[in-house]
Amino acid sequence: MLIEGAPGAWRVTAAYGTTREVPVDAATESWLRMLMSYGDVVDIGDGSPFIHSVPDFLGSLADTYRVCIAVKDHTDALAGIVLLAQTPPFKLLSAAQIYALKTHSVALYHAAPLAPVRNGPEGVIERLRLLESVVVHAKDAILITEAEPIDLPGPRIVYCNPAFLETTGFSLEEIVGKTPRILQCEETDRSTLDQIRSALSKWQPVEVELINTRRDGTRFWVQLSIVPVANEKGWFTHWVSVQRDITERKEAEQSLKQAQIDREEQVALRSRLVERERIQEELTYAAFHDDLTRLKNRAYFMAQIQEVFNLAQAEREAAVLYMDLDRFKYINDGMGHRAGDILLQIVAQRLQSCLTGNAVLARIGGDEFAILHTGDASKQAAVDTARRVIQALGVAVEVEGQAIFTSCSVGIVTLDAAHTSAEDLVRDADVAMYAAKKQGQGKWALFDLSMRQAAVDLLLMRNALKHALAREEFYLVYQPIFAARSRRIEGVEALVRWQHPVLGNVPPDVFIAVAEDIGIIHEMGRWVMQTACAEIKRWNADPASTLRLNVNVSGAELNHVGFVAKVAEILQGTSFSAHDLQIEITESVFLNEPETVAIALADLRELGVRIALDDFGTGYSSLGYIDRYPIDSIKIDRSFVTRMMTHRRTIAIVTSILSLGSALDVDIVAEGVETQDQLDRLQALGCPFVQGYLLSPPLRGEEMKQLLAARNEN
Ligand code: C2E
Ligand code: CA
Ligand code: CA
Repeated sequence: MLIEGAPGAWRVTAAYGTTREVPVDAATESWLRMLMSYGDVVDIGDGSPFIHSVPDFLGSLADTYRVCIAVKDHTDALAGIVLLAQTPPFKLLSAAQIYALKTHSVALYHAAPLAPVRNGPEGVIERLRLLESVVVHAKDAILITEAEPIDLPGPRIVYCNPAFLETTGFSLEEIVGKTPRILQCEETDRSTLDQIRSALSKWQPVEVELINTRRDGTRFWVQLSIVPVANEKGWFTHWVSVQRDITERKEAEQSLKQAQIDREEQVALRSRLVERERIQEELTYAAFHDDLTRLKNRAYFMAQIQEVFNLAQAEREAAVLYMDLDRFKYINDGMGHRAGDILLQIVAQRLQSCLTGNAVLARIGGDEFAILHTGDASKQAAVDTARRVIQALGVAVEVEGQAIFTSCSVGIVTLDAAHTSAEDLVRDADVAMYAAKKQGQGKWALFDLSMRQAAVDLLLMRNALKHALAREEFYLVYQPIFAARSRRIEGVEALVRWQHPVLGNVPPDVFIAVAEDIGIIHEMGRWVMQTACAEIKRWNADPASTLRLNVNVSGAELNHVGFVAKVAEILQGTSFSAHDLQIEITESVFLNEPETVAIALADLRELGVRIALDDFGTGYSSLGYIDRYPIDSIKIDRSFVTRMMTHRRTIAIVTSILSLGSALDVDIVAEGVETQDQLDRLQALGCPFVQGYLLSPPLRGEEMKQLLAARNEN
């Protein structure tokens, strides 16, 4: 009971407890009493009770659309809200207002126009009852709150209709006096709430869609319209919110959206699968192909051979050709890797054109290719293929406008009972290829067991060489270099020798390359220089006959970091004069990392060490090296010395090297002088220095000392 009637002055207790006296005229009083006979009239205003007089109240309807009266029944439950409104149009109204008016008031208005109100309170009651029933029976949930506070804790709920209770699962007691925040949940969109708050703080109607929670925690979507309600004086006293459950629509939307997402995911998944398949294909391709030539690779090739091994013993028939390009390294290093790549691609095409039947071609390694023939007569097929291959590769290849003559060596092996794996077969083909290479370029060879022995020997040698230094199997010989005219010994060239207890005397031409290969060249080189410097230093004790020392240095050594420091250390340790030391390098050192080499050479020169270009004429013979690098001496290769005697052109070349030497102040040494004729000719041409068996073979240190002593006596 919130309004207590007393004639002329009614005490009104607002929902939040304030009480005040309200003067009420007789007409209002009778109207209120009639309302009260139905239930209690609750002032839901903000302290300014809107019910001053019924006529005033009804009169206010003429200029305001919004009137609310909450009616309580005798059980103190809210019985309804009365909404009254003016005639349309409602263009100034919010959607919620229109809703309220359309669903509730309009019918009422038409059913009971305002006029009768003025005729007496019965019409109003009637209208209120109708309005109330509309609100009570409305399908939409309706909630009325006080106008304020909008900020925490929020306006208190003063009324809700049965639909609201039904939708939310709350009981009236649980709702009234609380704020609508009890409907919020985590999923309630914060920005939507902000939107509501901002509208309410400006007393503006607002319409939004948001998620609410029921008493049991389940969520539901509502379309929420909130409208401020003013009293007849235009003061906002309440908010009416109408909530329509749109869960179904939202769920439909959601499932539509989900369906869309699913569809997109499906598409994405499908394209991921396609992509994966593509990558898989690429990987498979990459796993079995060679990038550069697009030929099959080693892995594929080995797998193909394995297939043959999978057959019954009697059915295993296969032949493998192993091909290696002759001089490929020379081209690759000399013309650059790009040229090398182009050459390999062209070679791959040519090899492809040599295939017949079911032959499989693959690139096995750098410049190595292999072909597999299977089935009957695979041996004959392999031999035929080898012939075609050698012929096809005998034709010059044009790379970057330059004709390159390449050729290949082919090793052939046929599968026999001794082979137990694909590796076995390829290894023997490789061994046969080496044998073919030994016969010269562009040759083929069929594997036989003696070849395997050679391969085993190589392996033995590699292993033996690793221990040669520690086991003191190396020794040095010295070959004197003579002044051509005076025959004076000007210096010696140190040449390394390897005496192995089983392998015997292995020539340096054979083991130096292996030493480079297995990396012991650096240790060996140090030993050679160290030993030679120390020995010659002893011989040079007599300053009258100072000998120069030439030491051979391979490209691998020169390119090695710390080489120059090593030389300096040896010179220091042996007290050998740097000016008496000359290193011999071949032109091939310039092919790899010419910058590193240039720096090393400059540093050596800085130390005072001289540089000789060995085997001049066999490599590129680019005279360009002579003015590009600090070259002090040139050693004309033995092949020129030999050919000079029969070829006029060679004489011309030797002559120009000699004149170049004197013009550039570079010493010239002719190597490998074996005959008196050669010596005479060289002398006639003005060659200053000579070296060769004719004058002296390389000698052991002791012999060399004797030779020197004998010379000095003369
Ligand atoms: P190289 O520097 O051109 O050495 C000259 C080679 O020709 C030596 O062979 C020498 O014994 C040989 N020889 C000298 N006079 C004549 C002659 O009148 N006729 C013929 N047919 N041959 C003659 P060797 O000692 O077998 O050395 C072969 C190659 O091994 C050397 O060629 C050099 O490139 C390399 N080598 C030798 N010792 C060393 C070394 O200590 N370090 C490095 N890195 N390489 C070395
Ligand atoms: Ca040499
Ligand atoms: Ca030489």
